[in-house]
Amino acid sequence: MTIAGGCRCGRVRYELVSDELPLSYACHCLDCQTWSGSAFMLHAMVPEDALKIRGEAVRLRLPGGTEVMPSEHVGCASCLTRIANTNSAIPGVAVLKMGTLDRSKEVVPAAHIWVSRAQPWIMFDEDAPCFDETPSPQAFANAIAGR
Ligand SMILES: [Zn+2]
Ligand SMILES: [Zn+2]
Repeated sequence: MTIAGGCRCGRVRYELVSDELPLSYACHCLDCQTWSGSAFMLHAMVPEDALKIRGEAVRLRLPGGTEVMPSEHVGCASCLTRIANTNSAIPGVAVLKMGTLDRSKEVVPAAHIWVSRAQPWIMFDEDAPCFDETPSPQAFANAIAGR
């Protein structure tokens, strides 16, 4: 089965080969707030080769810094919607922006990261694991296992 989505103007569409909606998480970091122009972003880590992006997509490479690894971002050249990114810290994984899914209404974050930066009015689901910053991949996997 595939799960479809795309940018706001429709010039970039994608299909994710997956039977179920992937587990998503909300990131409240300052970059996500700035880049989305909102309070947080909804991401999901999916296998890079399961995500087929078509249309007029553009790619932006960002160099690494002291705290961040180099990354590449894919979005629509016409409406500036960002669809996904890869990060050299997690090879083979694409981080899909879950608000771009056709079924975005069904997305419920299974965990929250960078809650130390979260807007003060956000109320967290008591059952959802929360991390002050970026957890280690192992800690994150343990926290969301079975969710
Ligand atoms: Zn577009
Ligand atoms: Zn973030």
